[in-house]
Amino acid sequence: MTLWSVIGAGVAGLAVASELVSRGARVQVFDPGGPPGPHGCSWWAGGMLAPWCEYENAEEPVLRLGQEAIEWWAPRTQVNRRGTLVVANARDLPDLRRFARRTEGFSEVDRAKILELEPDLSKFGKALYFENEAHLDPRQALRDLHRHLQGAGVEFHRKLAPAQLDNAIDCRGLHAREYLHDLRGVKGEMLVLRCPDVTLSRPVRLLHPRMPLYIVPRGDGVYMLGATMIESEDSSRITARSMLELLSAAYAVNPAFGEAEVLEIGVDLRPAFPDNLPRIRRLGQTIYANGLYRHGYLLAPALARGVADLALDNTHSEMVDEDRA
Ligand SMILES: Cc1cc2nc3c(=O)[nH]c(=O)nc-3n(C[C@H](O)[C@H](O)[C@H](O)COP(=O)(O)OP(=O)(O)OC[C@H]3O[C@@H](n4cnc5c(N)ncnc54)[C@H](O)[C@@H]3O)c2cc1C
Repeated sequence: MTLWSVIGAGVAGLAVASELVSRGARVQVFDPGGPPGPHGCSWWAGGMLAPWCEYENAEEPVLRLGQEAIEWWAPRTQVNRRGTLVVANARDLPDLRRFARRTEGFSEVDRAKILELEPDLSKFGKALYFENEAHLDPRQALRDLHRHLQGAGVEFHRKLAPAQLDNAIDCRGLHAREYLHDLRGVKGEMLVLRCPDVTLSRPVRLLHPRMPLYIVPRGDGVYMLGATMIESEDSSRITARSMLELLSAAYAVNPAFGEAEVLEIGVDLRPAFPDNLPRIRRLGQTIYANGLYRHGYLLAPALARGVADLALDNTHSEMVDEDRA
């Protein structure tokens, strides 16, 4: 039986490996970084499975293909199906109306309903509730995929994959740029806070003219706060401006965030093609699966299915944009 070699064990590589294994294929994985960790962009994600919200600023495939994500992830890791709340300060209510015009799949909720859903959002009088959205803990999801794959007999290698490898699937994110010349990095910055004084049970997005912010609960009073979107390939540090914007937005959601402990500061580059949609390319012996942009967990399932269709059945999904086998 063909042995498929997945190169890179971020969310793209692990999802591809998982999809191949679920279809009965033999797989090995190469990643010099070892098990999932801070070396991959996937470590820093919010983990929102929010295709309707993302549609506000994304192409139609994100809405359609993203809707597959919840059912794909559910048997593989814990998925919290509690929806998303989108809020805005009173002076930014035009932004909430604009968001509503550009999206679908929500209901408009008033103060009473907001308080029923999230008692700690007491300052907001109006919100959009995307009931069918979900979220997961990205780090746990990566660990779960890794563990399931090991349990299924997949070997993980820390050494670099040999240069000439048959049946390789390159999922190295931005590290594949030497072969994917139209790939760019989009800087994202995030914080992890511990704030036991605030209780939120679902992702909350705050619309703000300068920087829309989201807060994703991780449980036990821990929150991921993200994320900036900056056309820059400098991932060395968070800027003071970003830190100020993120923290002041959290403070605007609930002033108790002012007392939070800052547990982590994360910075990384999202791999993105010019239209910010993922691509599958077959060039010679290698299939490249890349460009997840800000939709790593949302679109990895569709990307993985597309790769498995191409690799195992020679079927071209809409994500395949070049096939020079
Ligand atoms: C702040 C922030 C917030 C985000 N929020 C979300 C969100 O809420 N929801 C969402 O869906 N997405 C989100 N994203 C986007 C998501 O994180 C990315 O789309 C995703 O991580 C890209 O995954 P990847 O597997 O392509 O790349 P990576 O995770 O970078 O994985 C690439 C892997 O390749 C390995 N590698 C490098 N060189 C080699 C080599 N020579 N051989 C073998 N392996 C190699 C690396 O070690 C790494 O493990 C966010 C991103 C950021 C930065």
